[in-house]
Parts: sequence; structure tokens; C-alpha cells
Amino acid sequence: MEVINKNDIKQGTVIDLTHEGHGVVKFDRYPIFVPNALIDEDIEFKIIKVKKNFAIGKLMNVIKESENRVEPPCKYYWKCGGCQLQHMTYEAQLAMKKEQVVNLFHRKAQFNNTVINDTVGMNNPWRYRNKSQLPIGKDKDNFAIMGYYRQRSHDIIDMDSCLIQDEQHQEIMNQVKQWLNELKVSIYNEKTKKGLLRHLVIRTGHYTDEIMVIFVTNGSKFKQANILVEKLNKAFPNITSIKQNINNSHSNVIMGQQSVTLYGKDKIVDQLSDTTFKISDQSFYQINSSQTEKLYQKAIDYAQLDGEETVLDTYCGIGTIGLYMAPVAKHVYGVEVVPSAIKDAQQNATLNQLENTTFVCGKAEDVIIEWKQQGIKPDVVMVDPPRKGCDETFLDTLLTLNPKRIVYISCNPSTQQRDAQILATKYHLKEITPVDMFPQTTHIETVALFERLDNPFN
Ligand code: SAH
Repeated sequence: MEVINKNDIKQGTVIDLTHEGHGVVKFDRYPIFVPNALIDEDIEFKIIKVKKNFAIGKLMNVIKESENRVEPPCKYYWKCGGCQLQHMTYEAQLAMKKEQVVNLFHRKAQFNNTVINDTVGMNNPWRYRNKSQLPIGKDKDNFAIMGYYRQRSHDIIDMDSCLIQDEQHQEIMNQVKQWLNELKVSIYNEKTKKGLLRHLVIRTGHYTDEIMVIFVTNGSKFKQANILVEKLNKAFPNITSIKQNINNSHSNVIMGQQSVTLYGKDKIVDQLSDTTFKISDQSFYQINSSQTEKLYQKAIDYAQLDGEETVLDTYCGIGTIGLYMAPVAKHVYGVEVVPSAIKDAQQNATLNQLENTTFVCGKAEDVIIEWKQQGIKPDVVMVDPPRKGCDETFLDTLLTLNPKRIVYISCNPSTQQRDAQILATKYHLKEITPVDMFPQTTHIETVALFERLDNPFN
């Protein structure tokens, strides 16, 4: 076994990538993780951390380059924490994401009969974010700065462009930054917990082109609000809503519970396929609209509805999936824990004249028990939890409800795999499709179809 010490310079061939996109070099069976190295590359690296079961290396030199290596187009890429895969061709990114899913489901969990499809990618994998959440700070000369956090830190990188953001967000960001300096607006300091302005959040309706701008403040007194509103309106006529969100907490959560409308509508409107959605500033909405349509279409295909089904849309957000499905279902029941999102879902049902829907605010794990007690017998259950996956009691109740099909959308395939093992006691995991919602980053989204093992129709 080769001896490895901190600061050693070593050479090796990259044989694999971790889910964070780091290259893996092995000395005997001991892995060394080297960020920014690609599979099949011969590299030189410096050992910067040595642990019992692994080490971390810093890439010093690529001796033999992979054909998948490209020059990252963003000038901030090597320091910004936003993207991790810009040094890889888009085809290689899609292949890597599929490989991670194959690894988790075929190799680690032995779902050997499950079909894993190629990752559904974008034609143009840039400028896809319909929402930007920009932390605001000050540089050493006391100027307001805005951008994204440096990798693994809370230092703000002052940016004038971001290639995965909507182009107009970039213009608004640069303009607002200039005004903050001119107007000497008080800026929040994460260390001292003092100062006013914390974040600038911008949302765009992908198909409507409406823009919502949200100033997130520490405290409610915002004396330059009116003048900023006036300037924004003059410079960007398609801004339809300007809000102030008050966040007095000292946590990393970006938005607080309370918002006021400074100008225009209190919600932003967007459209997905034929369905219109009004979205509150605090509600979750998928950030890549064109890929969301592909994701939801896949979910509808998997659900195989013919108008007679009772559908549950669990973890429903503003009801996007359920409302998408309502025209081809008998009745849709949705559940979501955030009150403003459920209000949006109910209003969106009315807006789209979909009367066969019921949306309930609560925890999915509690409400699913209530639905069971009410005698609701779902044919299809949609599941779309946050990164931590489903609560075990939720899955246990779901199994007793015995739907024909379960369609499980996930933004974290490792918790999806854990939950799939519980569902596998009664369901066959037939197919998984990764859909690339977050190009240039390591995030993976998947949609999976489970069919009841004893279903005579299978
Ligand atoms: N299906 C929606 C939202 C998916 S994101 C869409 O496609 O847009 C996951 C959602 O689950 C978020 O809206 C979050 O607020 C909600 N959530 C988190 N924990 C929950 C729980 N225990 N019960 C119900 N909803 C929950």
C-alpha cells in the first residue's frame, strides 16, 4: 500500500465520479477524491486532507485530458458555489447523472429489473433559472455587493453575470446594486446580524414574462423602498410585482413568513402547458420551467389516467402536478405543509375551472391517514417530497391504501432509493427517468413508476 501524507504530490488515473462530481483515484482500495478531475484523466494532485477511509486531493495538473473536458464559459466558475459541472460537456453531465441513478438502484439496491432511461436533457442548458436568490453584502470599501456564495462558504462573490440565470435577472441585479450604493441603503451583515437588506429575490414567469422582485429585509422599516420601486418600474416595464419580505431570523433560511406588496400584483402568473398558475412569493415553484413540463409529462405518462381515477398529489406545492392531471382524472386530492402554497393551489383550481380537486394543508404523513379514515381509495398516488424523502409512517399508510400505481418524483435519488425499498414489499419499481432540471450542477431529479405486484392489469 502506497503511503499517503498531507502535501504529497501524487499521480493517478481517475476511475469514477462521486455524486458531487469529484474524480476518484484509488491507491489499492483507498480512494482519493479530487474535485474538477474527470473520468479516464491522468492527473497530478496534491493531498490536502488524509482520513482513515479516504483522502482529498487538489488537482494540480491534467496529464492526459478527457475528451469530455471543456473550458467553463462562466468567469466565476472556479470559485462560485452555484455550478459544479461546467468543465464537463453537457452530454457527459447527462450520462453522469444516469450513471449515479444506475449505481444507486442497480448496484447498491439490486432493483435489477428496473428500466433506467437516459437523462432527459435541455436543448440549450443555460439561462434556465426562473428564480434568482441573491445574497447582498458589502466589500471592504463599504460598497454593496451581490452574487452567489463562494464554494463551501458564506462569502459573497460580487458578480455581474450568471449564465444559468434568466438574462433579465442579471440586468436587474446589476442595476439594483448600483442604486443600493447611490442611495446608501443599509445592508445586512451576517456576522453582526445588523443592517437591513439581506437578499434580492427575482422570479420570472417563463411563459408570461412577468417579473416579481422581492427585497428581503431584516426588520420592516425600509425608507428607500418607494424610490427603489419607482426606479425599478421605470427601468423594467415588465416588472408586475415588487414585494418586501421580512426575515428577522438569524438562520440561513432566505425568506421570512411575512410579506408586503410594495407595488403591483401580490402574485406572479405563469403557465405550464395549458394550465395557469398564480404563485405567491413564499411558495415553492419548480425553477426550470421547460424541463418541468417534460418532468410532469413523464409523470402523467406513468400515471396512465383515463378520467376514472382518484389521484392523490402528495407534497403538492401550489398544486401544479394535481392541476395538470385533474382534466384527465375523476378527482384529485392534494396535500402540502406550507399554508400559502395550499391557498395558491385552491385559487389555481378555481382559475383553471377545475372543480374535481380538493387541497388540504398539513403534513402528508398526517393527512394521508385522515384520507384513509374518510374512505378515500386512490388509484394513483403522486409523491414529490423534499430532499429528505418521505416519512416512514407516510409510506406505511400509502402501502395500506393499495393504489394501482405510485409515481414518485424526487430531487434526491438516494432518499428515493431508501423509500423504494419500503415500497418494494408490495410494488414493482418498473421504470425511472432522470430529468435534468439543473444543468451545470450535480443536482439530479428523477421520476419513478411503481406498479402493484398483484395488479392483474400489469
Ligand atoms: N409537487 C410540487 C412541489 C414539490 S417540492 C411541485 O412540483 O412544484 C416539495 C414540497 O413538499 C414543498 O412544497 C414543501 O413545502 C412540501 N413539504 C415538505 N415537507 C412536507 C410534509 N411533511 N408534508 C407535506 N408537504 C411537505
